[in-house]
Amino acid sequence: MEECGVCEDCIDVCVEEAIERKAYTVTIDPEKCDNCGECVDVCPVGAIYEE
Ligand code: SF4
Ligand code: SF4
Repeated sequence: MEECGVCEDCIDVCVEEAIERKAYTVTIDPEKCDNCGECVDVCPVGAIYEE
């Protein structure tokens, strides 16, 4: 797994606003996430992956 550079591209792309910015990474709220996969596609370093 590559490290998140907090570029915030995934935050911009998430229509559910499920992604929250942290100091050195981002977190996804599984309660809000509808698994659309948009953030996985947009992340330039592949830091987001499906579980
Ligand atoms: S998969 Fe989830 S976190 Fe990612 S963009 Fe879609 S709703 Fe947002
Ligand atoms: S998970 Fe990827 S797209 Fe989201 S902020 Fe980190 S590096 Fe950018």
